[in-house]
Amino acid sequence: MRMKSLQLFACVLTALTASCFASDVLIQNVLLYDGSGKKPVRADVRIKGDRIAAIGKKLAPRKGEVIRDEHGLALAPGFIDMHSHHDGGIFDDLNAASVTRQGVTTVFVGQDGESNFPLADFFAHLEKAPAAINFASMVGHATVRAQVMGKDLFRPSTPEEMKKMKDLLAKELQAGAYGLSTGLEYEEGHFATTEEVIELSKVAAAKRGFYISHVRDEGNGVFDSFKEITRIGREGKLPVEITHIKLASPQVWHMAATRMPGVFASAKKQGVDLKADVYPYTYWHSTLRVLVTDRDFYNPERVAKGIADNGGAANLMVPKYLPDPSVAGKTLAQIAAVWGVTPVEAYMRMIKATSSATEGGEQEEVIGTSMTEDDVRWFIAHPRVMFSSDGALHGAHPRGAGAFPRVLGRYVREQHVLPLETAIHKMTMMPAAQLGLKDRGRIASGYIADLVVFDPQTVIDESTIQQPEAAPKGIPDVMVSGEWVVDGGKVTGSHPGRVLRHEPVAK
Ligand SMILES: [Zn+2]
Repeated sequence: MRMKSLQLFACVLTALTASCFASDVLIQNVLLYDGSGKKPVRADVRIKGDRIAAIGKKLAPRKGEVIRDEHGLALAPGFIDMHSHHDGGIFDDLNAASVTRQGVTTVFVGQDGESNFPLADFFAHLEKAPAAINFASMVGHATVRAQVMGKDLFRPSTPEEMKKMKDLLAKELQAGAYGLSTGLEYEEGHFATTEEVIELSKVAAAKRGFYISHVRDEGNGVFDSFKEITRIGREGKLPVEITHIKLASPQVWHMAATRMPGVFASAKKQGVDLKADVYPYTYWHSTLRVLVTDRDFYNPERVAKGIADNGGAANLMVPKYLPDPSVAGKTLAQIAAVWGVTPVEAYMRMIKATSSATEGGEQEEVIGTSMTEDDVRWFIAHPRVMFSSDGALHGAHPRGAGAFPRVLGRYVREQHVLPLETAIHKMTMMPAAQLGLKDRGRIASGYIADLVVFDPQTVIDESTIQQPEAAPKGIPDVMVSGEWVVDGGKVTGSHPGRVLRHEPVAK
Protein backbone atom coordinates (compact mmCIF):
# COMPACT_ATOMS: atom_id res chain seq x y z
CA MET A 1 0.00 0.00 0.00
CA ARG A 2 2.76 2.38 1.03
CA MET A 3 4.64 1.66 -2.17
CA LYS A 4 1.56 2.36 -4.26
CA SER A 5 1.02 5.83 -2.81
CA LEU A 6 4.69 6.68 -3.26
CA GLN A 7 4.42 5.61 -6.86
CA LEU A 8 1.29 7.64 -7.35
CA PHE A 9 3.11 10.64 -5.91
CA ALA A 10 6.00 10.09 -8.30
CA CYS A 11 3.52 9.78 -11.08
CA VAL A 12 1.84 13.09 -10.33
CA LEU A 13 5.25 14.72 -10.04
CA THR A 14 6.39 13.49 -13.41
CA ALA A 15 4.09 12.87 -16.33
CA LEU A 16 0.99 10.80 -16.62
CA THR A 17 2.21 7.82 -18.59
CA ALA A 18 0.95 4.32 -19.13
CA SER A 19 3.58 3.01 -16.76
CA CYS A 20 3.12 5.55 -14.01
CA PHE A 21 2.14 2.92 -11.45
CA ALA A 22 5.20 0.85 -12.19
CA SER A 23 8.22 1.79 -10.14
CA ASP A 24 11.68 0.86 -11.27
CA VAL A 25 12.65 -2.56 -10.06
CA LEU A 26 15.96 -4.33 -9.60
CA ILE A 27 15.45 -8.07 -9.72
CA GLN A 28 18.49 -9.63 -8.08
CA ASN A 29 19.96 -13.08 -8.02
CA VAL A 30 18.09 -14.95 -10.73
CA LEU A 31 18.95 -17.84 -13.00
CA LEU A 32 18.29 -16.09 -16.28
CA TYR A 33 16.67 -18.00 -19.16
CA ASP A 34 16.61 -15.25 -21.77
CA GLY A 35 14.31 -17.01 -24.26
CA SER A 36 17.00 -17.70 -26.86
CA GLY A 37 17.41 -21.33 -25.84
CA LYS A 38 20.88 -20.72 -24.41
CA LYS A 39 21.95 -22.21 -21.06
CA PRO A 40 20.90 -20.03 -18.12
CA VAL A 41 23.24 -17.59 -16.35
CA ARG A 42 23.23 -15.98 -12.90
CA ALA A 43 22.14 -12.37 -13.29
CA ASP A 44 20.43 -9.24 -12.02
CA VAL A 45 17.84 -7.49 -14.20
CA ARG A 46 16.87 -3.83 -13.99
CA ILE A 47 13.37 -2.74 -15.04
CA LYS A 48 12.70 0.90 -15.79
CA GLY A 49 9.05 1.73 -16.35
CA ASP A 50 7.69 -0.97 -18.64
CA ARG A 51 11.01 -2.06 -20.14
CA ILE A 52 14.10 -4.05 -19.33
CA ALA A 53 16.85 -1.48 -18.85
CA ALA A 54 19.89 -3.57 -17.99
CA ILE A 55 21.09 -7.11 -17.41
CA GLY A 56 24.31 -7.82 -15.53
CA LYS A 57 26.10 -10.24 -13.27
CA LYS A 58 25.81 -7.81 -10.36
CA LEU A 59 23.92 -4.53 -10.77
CA ALA A 60 24.29 -1.86 -8.06
CA PRO A 61 20.94 -0.69 -6.68
CA ARG A 62 19.92 2.84 -7.56
CA LYS A 63 18.05 5.34 -5.49
CA GLY A 64 14.28 4.88 -5.60
CA GLU A 65 14.50 1.40 -7.05
CA VAL A 66 12.46 -1.41 -5.53
CA ILE A 67 14.81 -4.30 -4.87
CA ARG A 68 13.60 -7.83 -5.23
CA ASP A 69 15.90 -10.71 -4.31
CA GLU A 70 14.71 -13.88 -6.04
CA HIS A 71 17.24 -16.15 -4.28
CA GLY A 72 18.38 -18.04 -7.35
CA LEU A 73 14.96 -18.80 -8.85
CA ALA A 74 14.59 -18.90 -12.63
CA LEU A 75 13.62 -15.76 -14.55
CA ALA A 76 12.19 -16.11 -18.06
CA PRO A 77 10.27 -13.95 -20.51
CA GLY A 78 6.50 -14.18 -19.92
CA PHE A 79 5.05 -17.17 -21.74
CA ILE A 80 3.01 -16.78 -24.94
CA ASP A 81 -0.01 -19.07 -25.30
CA MET A 82 -0.36 -19.81 -29.03
CA HIS A 83 -3.96 -21.04 -28.87
CA SER A 84 -6.16 -19.54 -26.20
CA HIS A 85 -9.84 -19.05 -25.53
CA HIS A 86 -9.15 -16.92 -22.47
CA ASP A 87 -10.87 -13.96 -24.11
CA GLY A 88 -14.25 -15.53 -23.29
CA GLY A 89 -15.59 -13.69 -20.24
CA ILE A 90 -12.43 -11.59 -19.88
CA PHE A 91 -14.36 -8.41 -19.06
CA ASP A 92 -15.86 -10.15 -16.03
CA ASP A 93 -12.46 -11.44 -14.93
CA LEU A 94 -9.78 -8.91 -15.81
CA ASN A 95 -7.30 -10.56 -13.43
CA ALA A 96 -7.33 -13.67 -15.65
CA ALA A 97 -5.73 -15.56 -12.76
CA SER A 98 -5.85 -18.90 -14.54
CA VAL A 99 -3.55 -17.36 -17.16
CA THR A 100 -1.20 -15.23 -15.08
CA ARG A 101 -0.56 -17.87 -12.43
CA GLN A 102 0.86 -20.08 -15.18
CA GLY A 103 3.40 -17.40 -16.08
CA VAL A 104 1.57 -16.64 -19.31
CA THR A 105 1.62 -12.92 -20.14
CA THR A 106 0.27 -12.97 -23.71
CA VAL A 107 -2.61 -14.99 -25.08
CA PHE A 108 -3.25 -15.51 -28.78
CA VAL A 109 -7.00 -15.67 -29.39
CA GLY A 110 -9.37 -15.80 -32.37
CA GLN A 111 -8.65 -19.52 -32.78
CA ASP A 112 -10.48 -22.45 -34.38
CA GLY A 113 -12.07 -20.13 -36.93
CA GLU A 114 -13.80 -17.91 -34.38
CA SER A 115 -12.80 -14.40 -33.43
CA ASN A 116 -14.37 -11.41 -31.72
CA PHE A 117 -16.17 -9.28 -34.28
CA PRO A 118 -15.44 -6.63 -35.19
CA LEU A 119 -11.94 -6.88 -33.81
CA ALA A 120 -11.57 -3.11 -33.66
CA ASP A 121 -14.39 -3.00 -31.08
CA PHE A 122 -12.90 -5.83 -29.03
CA PHE A 123 -9.51 -4.13 -29.01
CA ALA A 124 -11.05 -0.76 -28.09
CA HIS A 125 -12.95 -2.41 -25.25
CA LEU A 126 -9.74 -4.02 -23.98
CA GLU A 127 -7.99 -0.68 -24.07
CA LYS A 128 -10.79 0.93 -22.09
CA ALA A 129 -10.89 -1.93 -19.60
CA PRO A 130 -7.43 -3.54 -19.72
CA ALA A 131 -6.83 -7.01 -18.33
CA ALA A 132 -3.79 -8.35 -16.53
CA ILE A 133 -2.59 -10.02 -19.73
CA ASN A 134 -1.78 -9.02 -23.30
CA PHE A 135 -4.02 -10.03 -26.19
CA ALA A 136 -3.17 -10.80 -29.79
CA SER A 137 -5.75 -12.17 -32.19
CA MET A 138 -6.34 -13.95 -35.46
CA VAL A 139 -9.37 -13.42 -37.71
CA GLY A 140 -11.68 -16.39 -37.58
CA HIS A 141 -12.69 -17.98 -40.86
CA ALA A 142 -16.09 -19.11 -39.52
CA THR A 143 -16.65 -15.62 -38.10
CA VAL A 144 -16.12 -14.07 -41.52
CA ARG A 145 -18.25 -16.79 -43.13
CA ALA A 146 -21.10 -16.18 -40.70
CA GLN A 147 -21.00 -12.43 -41.35
CA VAL A 148 -21.40 -13.04 -45.06
CA MET A 149 -23.38 -16.31 -45.24
CA GLY A 150 -25.51 -15.95 -42.14
CA LYS A 151 -26.61 -19.30 -40.76
CA ASP A 152 -26.36 -21.00 -44.15
CA LEU A 153 -22.84 -22.26 -43.47
CA PHE A 154 -23.03 -25.93 -44.23
CA ARG A 155 -22.04 -25.62 -47.87
CA PRO A 156 -19.18 -24.14 -49.91
CA SER A 157 -19.33 -20.39 -50.50
CA THR A 158 -20.28 -18.77 -53.82
CA PRO A 159 -17.88 -16.48 -55.76
CA GLU A 160 -19.94 -13.48 -54.71
CA GLU A 161 -19.70 -14.48 -51.05
CA MET A 162 -15.97 -15.05 -51.46
CA LYS A 163 -15.49 -11.49 -52.59
CA LYS A 164 -17.34 -10.17 -49.55
CA MET A 165 -15.39 -12.46 -47.24
CA LYS A 166 -12.08 -11.26 -48.66
CA ASP A 167 -13.04 -7.63 -48.12
CA LEU A 168 -14.17 -8.32 -44.58
CA LEU A 169 -11.05 -10.33 -43.80
CA ALA A 170 -8.86 -7.51 -45.11
CA LYS A 171 -10.68 -5.08 -42.84
CA GLU A 172 -10.21 -7.29 -39.80
CA LEU A 173 -6.51 -7.77 -40.61
CA GLN A 174 -6.17 -4.02 -40.89
CA ALA A 175 -7.55 -3.75 -37.35
CA GLY A 176 -4.45 -5.60 -36.14
CA ALA A 177 -4.95 -9.36 -36.56
CA TYR A 178 -2.03 -11.66 -37.30
CA GLY A 179 -3.69 -13.70 -40.02
CA LEU A 180 -6.41 -16.25 -40.59
CA SER A 181 -7.54 -19.06 -38.30
CA THR A 182 -9.74 -21.94 -39.33
CA GLY A 183 -11.56 -24.71 -37.52
CA LEU A 184 -12.18 -27.03 -40.44
CA GLU A 185 -13.32 -29.86 -38.18
CA TYR A 186 -16.18 -27.73 -36.88
CA GLU A 187 -19.48 -27.52 -38.72
CA GLU A 188 -19.12 -23.81 -39.50
CA GLY A 189 -15.81 -24.34 -41.29
CA HIS A 190 -16.02 -27.93 -42.47
CA PHE A 191 -17.94 -27.23 -45.66
CA ALA A 192 -15.41 -24.73 -46.94
CA THR A 193 -13.31 -26.11 -49.77
CA THR A 194 -9.52 -26.04 -49.59
CA GLU A 195 -9.67 -23.54 -52.48
CA GLU A 196 -11.83 -21.18 -50.40
CA VAL A 197 -9.28 -21.30 -47.60
CA ILE A 198 -6.38 -20.74 -50.02
CA GLU A 199 -8.06 -17.69 -51.54
CA LEU A 200 -8.62 -16.20 -48.09
CA SER A 201 -5.07 -17.08 -47.05
CA LYS A 202 -3.76 -14.96 -49.90
CA VAL A 203 -5.47 -11.96 -48.31
CA ALA A 204 -3.68 -12.74 -45.04
CA ALA A 205 -0.39 -13.24 -46.90
CA ALA A 206 -0.71 -9.81 -48.51
CA LYS A 207 -0.72 -8.34 -44.98
CA ARG A 208 2.21 -10.52 -43.94
CA GLY A 209 -0.05 -12.63 -41.81
CA PHE A 210 0.09 -16.35 -41.23
CA TYR A 211 -2.42 -19.19 -41.16
CA ILE A 212 -3.31 -21.31 -38.16
CA SER A 213 -5.70 -24.23 -38.27
CA HIS A 214 -7.57 -26.71 -36.21
CA VAL A 215 -7.25 -29.11 -39.11
CA ARG A 216 -10.11 -30.81 -40.93
CA ASP A 217 -9.64 -34.21 -39.33
CA GLU A 218 -7.54 -34.91 -36.24
CA GLY A 219 -8.26 -38.65 -36.31
CA ASN A 220 -8.05 -41.20 -39.12
CA GLY A 221 -7.64 -38.56 -41.79
CA VAL A 222 -5.08 -36.51 -39.90
CA PHE A 223 -2.23 -37.01 -42.36
CA ASP A 224 -4.44 -35.88 -45.25
CA SER A 225 -5.24 -32.83 -43.13
CA PHE A 226 -1.51 -32.13 -42.78
CA LYS A 227 -1.21 -32.36 -46.58
CA GLU A 228 -4.07 -29.90 -46.89
CA ILE A 229 -2.46 -27.32 -44.59
CA THR A 230 0.85 -27.71 -46.41
CA ARG A 231 -0.92 -27.03 -49.69
CA ILE A 232 -2.60 -23.96 -48.18
CA GLY A 233 0.85 -22.69 -47.17
CA ARG A 234 2.31 -23.37 -50.60
CA GLU A 235 -0.50 -21.87 -52.67
CA GLY A 236 -1.42 -19.13 -50.20
CA LYS A 237 2.31 -18.29 -49.87
CA LEU A 238 2.29 -17.81 -46.11
CA PRO A 239 3.60 -19.57 -42.97
CA VAL A 240 1.18 -22.14 -41.56
CA GLU A 241 0.69 -23.59 -38.09
CA ILE A 242 -1.13 -26.79 -37.14
CA THR A 243 -2.71 -25.78 -33.89
CA HIS A 244 -3.11 -28.16 -30.94
CA ILE A 245 -1.50 -30.85 -33.06
CA LYS A 246 -2.62 -34.37 -32.19
CA LEU A 247 -3.04 -37.87 -33.51
CA ALA A 248 -6.49 -38.49 -32.11
CA SER A 249 -7.75 -41.88 -33.14
CA PRO A 250 -6.55 -45.42 -32.41
CA GLN A 251 -5.72 -45.99 -36.09
CA VAL A 252 -3.07 -43.25 -36.04
CA TRP A 253 -1.83 -43.59 -32.47
CA HIS A 254 1.93 -43.92 -31.92
CA MET A 255 2.69 -42.63 -35.41
CA ALA A 256 4.29 -39.29 -34.50
CA ALA A 257 7.84 -40.63 -34.51
CA THR A 258 7.46 -42.50 -37.78
CA ARG A 259 5.15 -40.26 -39.82
CA MET A 260 5.73 -36.69 -38.62
CA PRO A 261 9.33 -36.25 -39.83
CA GLY A 262 8.00 -36.85 -43.33
CA VAL A 263 5.26 -34.25 -42.84
CA PHE A 264 7.80 -31.57 -41.87
CA ALA A 265 10.28 -32.67 -44.56
CA SER A 266 7.62 -32.54 -47.27
CA ALA A 267 6.62 -29.01 -46.22
CA LYS A 268 10.26 -27.93 -46.28
CA LYS A 269 10.73 -29.40 -49.74
CA GLN A 270 7.73 -27.41 -50.96
CA GLY A 271 9.12 -24.22 -49.42
CA VAL A 272 6.41 -24.08 -46.76
CA ASP A 273 7.16 -22.76 -43.27
CA LEU A 274 5.15 -25.34 -41.31
CA LYS A 275 5.02 -25.14 -37.52
CA ALA A 276 2.67 -26.45 -34.86
CA ASP A 277 1.64 -25.93 -31.27
CA VAL A 278 0.62 -28.57 -28.75
CA TYR A 279 -1.07 -28.73 -25.37
CA PRO A 280 0.42 -31.23 -22.94
CA TYR A 281 -2.55 -33.52 -22.34
CA THR A 282 -3.78 -36.80 -23.80
CA TYR A 283 -7.38 -35.68 -23.71
CA TRP A 284 -9.22 -32.96 -25.59
CA HIS A 285 -12.28 -30.86 -24.87
CA SER A 286 -14.87 -29.86 -27.44
CA THR A 287 -18.50 -30.39 -28.41
CA LEU A 288 -20.08 -33.79 -29.08
CA ARG A 289 -20.60 -32.67 -32.65
CA VAL A 290 -16.94 -32.97 -33.61
CA LEU A 291 -17.26 -36.75 -33.34
CA VAL A 292 -19.26 -36.87 -36.57
CA THR A 293 -17.45 -34.47 -38.85
CA ASP A 294 -19.82 -34.60 -41.83
CA ARG A 295 -22.87 -33.72 -39.67
CA ASP A 296 -24.55 -37.02 -40.44
CA PHE A 297 -25.54 -37.11 -36.76
CA TYR A 298 -28.44 -39.53 -37.05
CA ASN A 299 -26.70 -42.17 -39.14
CA PRO A 300 -25.93 -44.94 -36.63
CA GLU A 301 -22.96 -46.22 -38.64
CA ARG A 302 -21.35 -42.79 -38.82
CA VAL A 303 -21.96 -42.20 -35.13
CA ALA A 304 -20.53 -45.61 -34.18
CA LYS A 305 -17.44 -44.85 -36.26
CA GLY A 306 -17.09 -41.38 -34.74
CA ILE A 307 -17.21 -42.83 -31.24
CA ALA A 308 -14.76 -45.62 -32.09
CA ASP A 309 -12.37 -43.24 -33.85
CA ASN A 310 -12.21 -41.13 -30.73
CA GLY A 311 -11.23 -43.91 -28.38
CA GLY A 312 -14.66 -45.43 -27.63
CA ALA A 313 -17.62 -44.44 -25.42
CA ALA A 314 -15.69 -45.14 -22.20
CA ASN A 315 -13.09 -42.54 -23.20
CA LEU A 316 -15.62 -39.78 -23.87
CA MET A 317 -16.58 -37.87 -20.72
CA VAL A 318 -19.44 -35.35 -20.82
CA PRO A 319 -18.69 -32.58 -18.27
CA LYS A 320 -21.68 -30.50 -19.34
CA TYR A 321 -25.11 -31.43 -20.64
CA LEU A 322 -27.75 -28.82 -19.94
CA PRO A 323 -30.87 -30.79 -21.00
CA ASP A 324 -30.11 -33.28 -18.20
CA PRO A 325 -27.41 -31.96 -15.85
CA SER A 326 -27.63 -35.14 -13.74
CA VAL A 327 -25.50 -37.00 -16.29
CA ALA A 328 -22.76 -34.35 -16.35
CA GLY A 329 -19.42 -35.85 -15.40
CA LYS A 330 -20.29 -39.30 -16.71
CA THR A 331 -18.80 -40.99 -19.75
CA LEU A 332 -20.88 -41.64 -22.84
CA ALA A 333 -20.80 -45.34 -21.92
CA GLN A 334 -22.14 -44.56 -18.42
CA ILE A 335 -24.84 -42.23 -19.74
CA ALA A 336 -25.98 -44.93 -22.18
CA ALA A 337 -26.20 -47.37 -19.27
CA VAL A 338 -28.23 -44.90 -17.18
CA TRP A 339 -30.65 -44.36 -20.05
CA GLY A 340 -30.75 -48.05 -20.95
CA VAL A 341 -29.70 -47.46 -24.57
CA THR A 342 -26.57 -48.03 -26.67
CA PRO A 343 -23.87 -45.33 -26.72
CA VAL A 344 -24.84 -44.61 -30.35
CA GLU A 345 -28.47 -44.02 -29.34
CA ALA A 346 -27.40 -41.94 -26.36
CA TYR A 347 -25.26 -39.78 -28.63
CA MET A 348 -28.06 -39.22 -31.12
CA ARG A 349 -30.45 -38.35 -28.30
CA MET A 350 -28.01 -35.75 -26.97
CA ILE A 351 -27.45 -34.17 -30.37
CA LYS A 352 -31.20 -34.00 -30.92
CA ALA A 353 -31.81 -32.38 -27.54
CA THR A 354 -29.17 -29.73 -28.21
CA SER A 355 -29.67 -29.13 -31.93
CA SER A 356 -31.79 -26.01 -31.43
CA ALA A 357 -28.75 -24.20 -30.13
CA THR A 358 -26.66 -22.42 -32.74
CA GLU A 359 -23.67 -24.25 -31.36
CA GLY A 360 -23.70 -27.45 -29.39
CA GLY A 361 -20.95 -26.08 -27.15
CA GLU A 362 -23.39 -23.85 -25.33
CA GLN A 363 -25.40 -26.85 -24.16
CA GLU A 364 -23.00 -29.75 -24.10
CA GLU A 365 -19.30 -30.45 -23.89
CA VAL A 366 -17.16 -33.52 -24.17
CA ILE A 367 -13.69 -34.42 -22.95
CA GLY A 368 -12.16 -37.22 -24.98
CA THR A 369 -9.13 -39.25 -24.02
CA SER A 370 -7.90 -40.01 -27.48
CA MET A 371 -4.22 -39.17 -27.66
CA THR A 372 -1.26 -41.20 -26.52
CA GLU A 373 1.49 -40.06 -24.21
CA ASP A 374 4.30 -41.04 -26.60
CA ASP A 375 2.85 -38.90 -29.42
CA VAL A 376 2.31 -35.95 -27.06
CA ARG A 377 5.92 -36.25 -25.87
CA TRP A 378 7.20 -36.38 -29.44
CA PHE A 379 5.36 -33.16 -30.32
CA ILE A 380 6.55 -31.43 -27.14
CA ALA A 381 10.16 -32.21 -28.01
CA HIS A 382 10.02 -31.23 -31.68
CA PRO A 383 11.87 -27.99 -32.59
CA ARG A 384 9.03 -26.73 -34.81
CA VAL A 385 6.34 -27.16 -32.15
CA MET A 386 5.36 -24.40 -29.69
CA PHE A 387 2.96 -24.58 -26.76
CA SER A 388 -0.67 -23.68 -26.24
CA SER A 389 -3.36 -24.25 -23.67
CA ASP A 390 -6.47 -24.22 -25.90
CA GLY A 391 -7.93 -23.30 -22.51
CA ALA A 392 -10.55 -20.95 -21.14
CA LEU A 393 -10.71 -18.75 -18.02
CA HIS A 394 -13.27 -21.01 -16.38
CA GLY A 395 -13.32 -24.07 -18.62
CA ALA A 396 -13.93 -27.70 -17.78
CA HIS A 397 -10.52 -28.80 -19.09
CA PRO A 398 -7.59 -28.29 -16.67
CA ARG A 399 -5.37 -27.03 -19.50
CA GLY A 400 -6.89 -23.54 -19.07
CA ALA A 401 -5.03 -23.17 -15.76
CA GLY A 402 -2.24 -25.71 -16.07
CA ALA A 403 -0.77 -26.21 -19.55
CA PHE A 404 2.47 -24.27 -19.18
CA PRO A 405 3.55 -25.42 -15.69
CA ARG A 406 2.63 -28.94 -16.80
CA VAL A 407 5.19 -28.76 -19.59
CA LEU A 408 7.83 -27.44 -17.18
CA GLY A 409 7.10 -29.88 -14.35
CA ARG A 410 5.90 -33.07 -15.95
CA TYR A 411 7.70 -33.09 -19.29
CA VAL A 412 10.89 -31.14 -18.54
CA ARG A 413 11.72 -32.01 -14.92
CA GLU A 414 10.10 -35.40 -14.45
CA GLN A 415 10.31 -36.98 -17.90
CA HIS A 416 13.34 -35.15 -19.40
CA VAL A 417 11.55 -34.79 -22.73
CA LEU A 418 13.47 -31.60 -23.49
CA PRO A 419 15.91 -29.25 -21.70
CA LEU A 420 14.40 -26.41 -19.69
CA GLU A 421 16.07 -23.71 -21.79
CA THR A 422 14.58 -25.26 -24.94
CA ALA A 423 11.09 -25.43 -23.42
CA ILE A 424 11.39 -21.76 -22.40
CA HIS A 425 12.48 -20.83 -25.92
CA LYS A 426 9.43 -22.60 -27.34
CA MET A 427 7.19 -20.65 -24.91
CA THR A 428 8.75 -17.23 -25.55
CA MET A 429 11.09 -16.21 -28.35
CA MET A 430 9.80 -18.75 -30.85
CA PRO A 431 6.14 -17.72 -30.62
CA ALA A 432 7.16 -14.04 -30.48
CA ALA A 433 8.98 -14.59 -33.79
CA GLN A 434 5.95 -16.39 -35.25
CA LEU A 435 3.81 -13.35 -34.39
CA GLY A 436 6.50 -10.89 -35.40
CA LEU A 437 6.60 -9.24 -31.96
CA LYS A 438 9.69 -7.07 -31.95
CA ASP A 439 10.09 -6.31 -28.27
CA ARG A 440 8.68 -9.31 -26.44
CA GLY A 441 9.62 -12.94 -25.88
CA ARG A 442 13.18 -12.25 -24.81
CA ILE A 443 15.02 -10.86 -21.84
CA ALA A 444 17.22 -8.23 -23.43
CA SER A 445 17.82 -4.57 -22.89
CA GLY A 446 15.00 -2.47 -24.37
CA TYR A 447 12.50 -5.32 -24.41
CA ILE A 448 9.11 -5.00 -22.67
CA ALA A 449 9.28 -6.36 -19.11
CA ASP A 450 6.86 -9.29 -19.43
CA LEU A 451 8.55 -11.72 -17.04
CA VAL A 452 7.99 -14.83 -14.98
CA VAL A 453 9.87 -16.02 -11.89
CA PHE A 454 9.57 -19.76 -11.24
CA ASP A 455 11.21 -22.56 -9.35
CA PRO A 456 12.41 -25.28 -11.77
CA GLN A 457 12.53 -27.75 -8.83
CA THR A 458 8.86 -27.40 -7.86
CA VAL A 459 6.92 -25.93 -10.79
CA ILE A 460 3.94 -28.14 -11.68
CA ASP A 461 0.28 -27.92 -12.68
CA GLU A 462 -2.32 -28.70 -10.03
CA SER A 463 -5.46 -28.34 -12.12
CA THR A 464 -7.41 -31.51 -12.78
CA ILE A 465 -10.74 -32.47 -14.36
CA GLN A 466 -12.20 -32.38 -10.82
CA GLN A 467 -10.58 -28.99 -10.06
CA PRO A 468 -9.90 -27.40 -13.44
CA GLU A 469 -8.97 -23.99 -12.05
CA ALA A 470 -6.56 -25.05 -9.28
CA ALA A 471 -3.48 -22.82 -9.27
CA PRO A 472 -0.15 -24.31 -10.31
CA LYS A 473 2.81 -24.52 -7.93
CA GLY A 474 6.24 -22.95 -8.18
CA ILE A 475 5.44 -19.71 -10.03
CA PRO A 476 5.62 -16.94 -7.38
CA ASP A 477 6.01 -13.79 -9.48
CA VAL A 478 4.73 -12.67 -12.86
CA MET A 479 5.24 -9.23 -14.39
CA VAL A 480 3.44 -7.62 -17.32
CA SER A 481 4.84 -4.39 -18.78
CA GLY A 482 6.86 -3.71 -15.62
CA GLU A 483 4.00 -4.35 -13.16
CA TRP A 484 3.57 -7.41 -11.00
CA VAL A 485 0.34 -9.21 -11.77
CA VAL A 486 1.26 -12.11 -9.51
CA ASP A 487 3.41 -11.30 -6.49
CA GLY A 488 4.46 -13.95 -4.00
CA GLY A 489 1.88 -16.30 -5.54
CA LYS A 490 -0.92 -13.77 -5.03
CA VAL A 491 -2.86 -12.09 -7.81
CA THR A 492 -2.23 -8.35 -7.36
CA GLY A 493 -5.23 -6.91 -9.22
CA SER A 494 -3.03 -4.85 -11.53
CA HIS A 495 -4.21 -4.73 -15.12
CA PRO A 496 -1.29 -3.62 -17.28
CA GLY A 497 -2.17 -5.87 -20.24
CA ARG A 498 -2.16 -4.43 -23.72
CA VAL A 499 -3.57 -5.12 -27.13
CA LEU A 500 -0.75 -6.33 -29.36
CA ARG A 501 -1.77 -5.32 -32.86
CA HIS A 502 -0.09 -6.75 -35.88
CA GLU A 503 1.26 -4.03 -38.03
CA PRO A 504 0.48 -5.08 -41.56
CA VAL A 505 3.19 -4.13 -43.98
CA ALA A 506 2.43 -4.50 -47.64
CA LYS A 507 4.74 -6.98 -49.34
ZN1 LIG B 1 -9.45 -26.34 -31.73
